[in-house]
Amino acid sequence: MKARRRTGPTDVVKAIVYERDGGACVRCGTQQDLTIHHRVNRGMGGAREEWINQAHNLLLACRICNGWFEDNPRKSYEAGWKVRRPQLPGEVLVRYTDGREYQLTPDGVRSTTVAAAR
Ligand SMILES: [Zn+2]
Repeated sequence: MKARRRTGPTDVVKAIVYERDGGACVRCGTQQDLTIHHRVNRGMGGAREEWINQAHNLLLACRICNGWFEDNPRKSYEAGWKVRRPQLPGEVLVRYTDGREYQLTPDGVRSTTVAAAR
């Protein structure tokens, strides 16, 4: 059996993420040059955990912000744009361009929670 490497999310998941994030970058709001950003990096050995390529681990981001996340890990972790293992993407709120923080679910739902709860 040939080892099959899943390198990224399916087109269906990408479409869910695009819809959920309103077709705009989660950090700067641009609608240009968008890509899918992984909050928890796929890491070595590829996507072993199934949630790696599910909607709550993915954000719509432009290429500039996608690079910014890697250059500014501390701020990215604070905003939930990046998630540090062993935390799971569903446990960490994400800041969007409206300044509010949202919880994401694997099926592509984005809901507000009380920010003060943190
Ligand atoms: Zn951006």
